[in-house]
Amino acid sequence: MQFSTARLPEDTSLVNSVAVIGAGVAGIQAALDLANHEILVHLIEREPSIGGHMAQLDKTFPTNDCAMCILSPKMAEVARHPMIQLHTCSSVEKIEGEVGDFTLTIRKKPRFIDESLCNGCGDCVQICPVEVYNRFDAGIGVRKAIYKPQPQSVPDLVIKDQEHCIECGLCYDVCARDAVLKEQKETEIQVHVASVIVAVGYTIFDACRKSQFGYLRFPDVITSLELERMLNASGPTGGEVRRLSSGSTPQSVVFIQCVGSRDISVDRPYCSCVCCMAAIKNAMLIKEKYPEAEVTICYQDIRAYGKGYEEYYRRAEQMGIRFLKGMPGGVEQDASGVTLQVENTETREVLTLHPELVVLSAGIDPAPDLPKIAESLGIPLEKTGFARAANDAMAPVTTIKPGIYIAGTVAAPRDIPDTVIMGEAAAMKAFRDVLAAEAKEL
Ligand code: SF4
Ligand code: SF4
Repeated sequence: MQFSTARLPEDTSLVNSVAVIGAGVAGIQAALDLANHEILVHLIEREPSIGGHMAQLDKTFPTNDCAMCILSPKMAEVARHPMIQLHTCSSVEKIEGEVGDFTLTIRKKPRFIDESLCNGCGDCVQICPVEVYNRFDAGIGVRKAIYKPQPQSVPDLVIKDQEHCIECGLCYDVCARDAVLKEQKETEIQVHVASVIVAVGYTIFDACRKSQFGYLRFPDVITSLELERMLNASGPTGGEVRRLSSGSTPQSVVFIQCVGSRDISVDRPYCSCVCCMAAIKNAMLIKEKYPEAEVTICYQDIRAYGKGYEEYYRRAEQMGIRFLKGMPGGVEQDASGVTLQVENTETREVLTLHPELVVLSAGIDPAPDLPKIAESLGIPLEKTGFARAANDAMAPVTTIKPGIYIAGTVAAPRDIPDTVIMGEAAAMKAFRDVLAAEAKEL
């Protein structure tokens, strides 16, 4: 495709452009749709790489496609697209104006790397002696003090974590391009856009809040995200499921659904939408990898509402995965391992299970920075903390503020196909604002 050079990305004075806040799959989709229609997009991401939660997943349901095989071509397209200006490590500090003419103040945190020099070779990462907890691997892997945020980072740059760096100097010496910096300051820029798409995604419910399940007290109780990272071939265990107590492969796994969903005791009355299907998918992957393993899913209801989902659920049953309707009250641990009691609500039978691994299907919470962003944009939030659409049925990406749109899990928990649809819909709405702004200028 040929692109016009009329709106060069360096020219931030143009109002015929759109800001997309958040570069998970919704924001990426929205940005690409707009950019492919020759709209300049400022794609603003708080993390050092784009990709969002989807980049952490192993496979996607109901096709078991590799998540990164779908996502990484889109991430690469963002990186090389002449109509997308990518702002990583960045947040929106202030927004002023109205539809057709917003001014955003973007604050960029330092990477302690000269982005114009670093080529992502990774020599500095190899030599760094400091290892710390890796948030991308959901805490079960480690990274260096200078590191690539994820295996297929976009942009392909490292970042230096000043909090853990011991200033040994090795990375400065090894970098042939002198890209590692001792000091770097925060910067601020202003951009002018016709409209704004908010796609800041979600965070995972803190499973420690359901202390009866023993998360972080018992090593063989993990979250679904930790399991995703283990199942991923590029994850911390190279794709093998391991017990954190012994490093061995578990012979029996129990999933506990709705941890932080449909639960008023933790102020989470809503369904997180994806956990049933994610548990079914991960149970199937475990069963495929370790056919002898006993896999049980303890659930309230199985919500398999999407295209192909019910068939997927039935396939899991045929593979020998046990679906047990009943929620354990808690998890105990003694010298022999973990134990949980659960009443099968269909048979009224009370069962005692001794799994070698417990997986908590932790729900979806609103993104922690959403309240601040919503306040600066002047858009209301629901009681649940998600962003309120103008009309959930008829205008799900529109907000009460003209020119501000919402996409993906910022509005409510949803699966990847629905998230992508919202990104496309929000792009369409924003495109219309750009056309209106252009018509005004003529
Ligand atoms: Fe390579 Fe230097 Fe960049 Fe590290 S900072 S990835 S050594 S170019
Ligand atoms: Fe790692 Fe810091 Fe030493 Fe660089 S200076 S190698 S980041 S500890």
